[in-house]
Amino acid sequence: MTEHPPELPQHPDFLWHSPEPKRTYDVVIVGGGGHGLATAYYLATNHGITDIAVLEKGWLAGGNMARNTTIIRSNYLWDDSAGLYEHALKLWEGLEDELDYPLLFSQRGVLNLAHSLQDVRDSVRRVEANKLNGIDAEWLNPDEVSEVCPILNTSPELRYPVHGATYQPRAGIAKHDHVAWGLARALDRMGVHLIQDCEVTSVEVAGSKVCGVQTTRGPIAAGKVALAAAGSTSTVTDTLGLDLPLQSHPLQALVSELFEPVHPTVVMSNAVHVYVSQAHKGELVLGAGIDSYNSYAQRGSFHTIERQMQAAVELFPIFSRAHVLRTWAGTVDVTPDASAIMGLTPFDGLYINCGWGTGGFKATPGVGWCYAHTIAHDEPHPLNAPFSLDRFTTGALVDEHGAAGVAH
Ligand SMILES: Cc1cc2nc3c(=O)[nH]c(=O)nc-3n(C[C@H](O)[C@H](O)[C@H](O)COP(=O)(O)OP(=O)(O)OC[C@H]3O[C@@H](n4cnc5c(N)ncnc54)[C@H](O)[C@@H]3O)c2cc1C
Repeated sequence: MTEHPPELPQHPDFLWHSPEPKRTYDVVIVGGGGHGLATAYYLATNHGITDIAVLEKGWLAGGNMARNTTIIRSNYLWDDSAGLYEHALKLWEGLEDELDYPLLFSQRGVLNLAHSLQDVRDSVRRVEANKLNGIDAEWLNPDEVSEVCPILNTSPELRYPVHGATYQPRAGIAKHDHVAWGLARALDRMGVHLIQDCEVTSVEVAGSKVCGVQTTRGPIAAGKVALAAAGSTSTVTDTLGLDLPLQSHPLQALVSELFEPVHPTVVMSNAVHVYVSQAHKGELVLGAGIDSYNSYAQRGSFHTIERQMQAAVELFPIFSRAHVLRTWAGTVDVTPDASAIMGLTPFDGLYINCGWGTGGFKATPGVGWCYAHTIAHDEPHPLNAPFSLDRFTTGALVDEHGAAGVAH
């Protein structure tokens, strides 16, 4: 590892090397976001496969991994989704110790607000479904919501009155860049190559068998190629004539100036599309709903954040004088049933992981675990079997719009 002067703070560049790509690897992973890194991590730790290159077109974890609002929860409606996200949450609970790196994983609870009678019915149904799956979930009335989050305006006079909320106490947030850096450091120590500024321009096949990739740094041969390129996945599979049911949308977020701790939990509202937590360093972190048009631009429209801010100020009058420091967007990959795609493809040795939309950060360790199993054994792990690509032809959809549609 590169030595650095002691007076410099620890910087991610010093946590991993930047090797020249070899001509061949056992496994090439396309995309150095959280999912690509976690997949490499569990390939190495669970399956003993370390001859891996993670190829990243930009800088490591500069995509959605660095752009999300870091909400972690597992209170999804359907058994299939709950299984995957709860597996991820259990892995989060041990990941900081395992990586020996401060992930700032904070189980401060997540409230999902209900603003209408229909919201209440859907929420109570989801709480009961969660309990059946052994997931901690509670239905709170407005007074109980106020106890958990005293700065939330629960006045019945509101345009979007708070009729109650689902609450998952084990849910929370983590520091996303630290998660990437912790994984990257562990991978580097195990000999995995993390290669930045290396865009995969096509996947190479011989007949129906994958044999490698073409990149902006030359061809790289591989026995197996695993896609983890989020919103750009379909641009890679286009080169194979593999058409994916994916749309890519901008999703925006913003942070305020720094404040003393005022916000004890995470509050989400699907109906008004605002999500609020307070980062460890003091910024209020606010997420919005997706911009409705398709785009690969990592920026969104002003009216979306204007609407998000209106809702935030109404729900949290205490924020009315907060200044916005910066806004940004990522490109999220959305499927018709608002669930991810993870598993095999029609090409031997080509694996797919995408379609996490607005909610894939929380799945990071669970994705890595299941995707690594799929790649190592050439068959899906039971937890990701329901999320195969062929569900769009069989019709076995996992419709999570209610719990995941535009809700992080
Ligand atoms: C504003 C915003 C808020 C969000 N909030 C939450 C939240 O609170 N909770 C939550 O669970 N999720 C949230 N998400 C969603 C979450 O961030 C994503 O689902 C998750 O990061 C996806 O992980 P990934 O590793 O697949 O994607 P990414 O981190 O985007 O990684 C994909 C990587 O692939 C690289 N790549 C693309 N094409 C190529 C190529 N051809 N060759 C090489 N590399 C390539 C990209 O540069 C990128 O680094 C949010 C997303 C956004 C944008």
